Amino acid sequence: MYHHMLIGTNIEPEVSRIENGLSLHFYKLGEGKPRIFITSGIHGDEQTGVYVAEDLLQRLGKMELFGSITILPVANPPAFRCKTRISPLDGLDLNRVFPGNSEGTVTERLAAEIWEQARQADYIIDLHCCEYDCVPYVLALHREFSYVRTFSYKLGIPHIIESTGLRGQLFVEASHEGIPAVIIEMRGSRYIDLQSAVQVREVLLNFLTTLGLVQGRALESKSEFYGRITEIKSPANGVFIPKLLCGAEVNEETLLGEIRGGSKIHSPISGLLVYIEKPAYVFKGDKVAGVAAKLKY
Ligand SMILES: [Zn+2]
Repeated sequence: MYHHMLIGTNIEPEVSRIENGLSLHFYKLGEGKPRIFITSGIHGDEQTGVYVAEDLLQRLGKMELFGSITILPVANPPAFRCKTRISPLDGLDLNRVFPGNSEGTVTERLAAEIWEQARQADYIIDLHCCEYDCVPYVLALHREFSYVRTFSYKLGIPHIIESTGLRGQLFVEASHEGIPAVIIEMRGSRYIDLQSAVQVREVLLNFLTTLGLVQGRALESKSEFYGRITEIKSPANGVFIPKLLCGAEVNEETLLGEIRGGSKIHSPISGLLVYIEKPAYVFKGDKVAGVAAKLKY
């Protein structure tokens, strides 16, 4: 199938057959602890995450590893093929049905199969892409679970944001089971954003070095923790014009953008501008930006 066409590697995957013509390809490298599990393509339209996973796989395939890593670049093959967030087969969002059900619909069975691998991991990293312009950031239950907080800090992505904790997501269910798990969000949904891809890949390789899974000297990193994202919605229909770049530090009343010829949109809180819409037609109530307040631990 298209898995092999995509991945320019001679590493043989472990194949889990879900049903006729549908299977998951888990690429397993190294052995022993620590055991890392990296997933991408849980949402089929988030291409940059898949690209990072493949790129990592190719690089790690040439290295000596001191521990094991399982990479699942395409976690939702039907959605990936159709470039959709939800499954074209049963209309479900794979990242809402974990831990899955081996007797359920196609998407629930995919989740159950992925969950079997996830349960054996010491760390789980799930790669996703933001539909807006964003800096790479970690989404984690860092307030609820101290082991998640420690893990997210070690990862080395500069911004760590609290998740809403919506159940059924792989990283949320794993976190509740005592496994340190996070999402990394990056720019590049429906296309490959090479700059984000390289940035996230380098951070992940550095994290694996920190763990001792890969040899080399790890760079020191510093991250900041933030609370949940406050969503900012358009007050009117029209053309949204952003006035700031994502990643900016904002204060209450900082101008984020405007609806051309009309309303100005200000930040309701101080913090990090996590994501912002590109110039685009928007309608009243559409999300145009997200801001998260810095936390002190
Ligand atoms: Zn996603």
